[in-house]
Amino acid sequence: MTTHLKLYDKASSLRADGSRNFVHPADVSGRFDRVRKLVFVLLIGVMAVLPWWNIGGHPAVFLDMPHRCFYLFGGTFNAQDVWLMFFLLTGVGFGLIVTTALWGRLWCGYACPQTVFLEGLFRPIERLIEGPRNERIRRNQQQLSWDKAWRKVLKHALFMLLAFAIAHIILAYFVSLPGLYHMVLSRPAEHPEAFVWAASLTLLLYVDFFWFREQLCLIICPYGRLQSVLADHDTLIIGYDEARGEPRGKVGVTGAGACVDCNRCVVVCPTGIDIRNGLQIDCIGCARCIDACDEVMHKLGRPPGLVRYDSQNGLLGKVRQHLRPRVALYAVLGLLGVIALSIALSRSTAFEANVLRLRDAPPFVVENGRVRNAFEVHLVNKRNHSTLFELRAGRAHGLHYVIAMPRIALAPLGDQRVPVFVDFAATDVHDGASASLELLADGIVARTLHAPLLAPSITP
Ligand code: SF4
Ligand code: SF4
Repeated sequence: MTTHLKLYDKASSLRADGSRNFVHPADVSGRFDRVRKLVFVLLIGVMAVLPWWNIGGHPAVFLDMPHRCFYLFGGTFNAQDVWLMFFLLTGVGFGLIVTTALWGRLWCGYACPQTVFLEGLFRPIERLIEGPRNERIRRNQQQLSWDKAWRKVLKHALFMLLAFAIAHIILAYFVSLPGLYHMVLSRPAEHPEAFVWAASLTLLLYVDFFWFREQLCLIICPYGRLQSVLADHDTLIIGYDEARGEPRGKVGVTGAGACVDCNRCVVVCPTGIDIRNGLQIDCIGCARCIDACDEVMHKLGRPPGLVRYDSQNGLLGKVRQHLRPRVALYAVLGLLGVIALSIALSRSTAFEANVLRLRDAPPFVVENGRVRNAFEVHLVNKRNHSTLFELRAGRAHGLHYVIAMPRIALAPLGDQRVPVFVDFAATDVHDGASASLELLADGIVARTLHAPLLAPSITP
């Protein structure tokens, strides 16, 4: 019995001479196929809807790179908030690691964009135009004919159109829908970068989904390569029950196991592997072989589950341990990332206000027995809407304030530096004295800002 991931010296979709063995998976139906289709529809729907969905005057997801503004589900972030990404990526990264350690390649089989687009859009179109597996293989081997030509032309035209649509939806996340609409109606020379991005992405998606397909999972994707490190003998995988299935043999053969060697699990596999060879790194966990084998078992009146979700220990008849120390460790680390992100987000304010010493000005100026300190208040409006800020002098005794702009209207993510001068008699202040400014946002006191004062009589 194979008990660990195998990395064969050749990919399952390559022939012995190194040429591409193009995989034509056969149709399959079953409970996992239905779940996958539902997930595909949901994910494609969410992806298409997000640029249209307006929250607080902006798309739900809008990454405005030129202005360094990021609008995410009602929150507004700027370049200074990029540090939050660390916690977000930590949480997502460990979440994926925990998921993989517990449930194997669930992501690859159900939610990876490569799988979702290929199996949810491109493959059904190919099936519709070129027919089922055997018909496709037969036609591909035939000489060019009118029947073959029109099907190929139509398929590639639709593939190109779909790649174009996906590329433009992705572009909408970066330029917004109105921006995209404007770009589509104007000449490419007016927005060359966006044009090159959209054209390159369209071409990349088209080549990927008409030609490269499973090769991306088998050769390029780093997550797929990490499987052997993340999975252990208790990880849920898709496996073949060798004890029950072997020796293979047709129905009625004395001593034969449950596997009738019908090859259905192999012909439905999108990466072209035989799950009966044991768990392989080429398996993307799509569960098509489970549906295929269950269908065969059902027809034969045998119990399903010859190919099933189980751990390697489970397939060997041992008890599967759900909570393992390393999974718990991954989960705790992931949870820490999520908690840190939640705390950081809950503490983030709708504006930024910092008091700094005025650039290029001396620490203080003494004139006619009075000392003057010069500051500047840097304000950033992080709300989705324009906000009126007001700066008011605090109530400190003996300080006289001159605020260059007491009222500042700022557009979303707009910023302004406001010079503030504080004047006082040297004898009126003591060590540790500070100026204070009250900041109001839309008429509500939002924060009190403090700035330490400097004078000849004050020890810094
Ligand atoms: S589908 Fe089931 S019965 Fe048929 S070859 Fe695969 S494992 Fe054996
Ligand atoms: S072996 Fe089964 S689960 Fe793995 S990729 Fe092939 S069909 Fe999908």
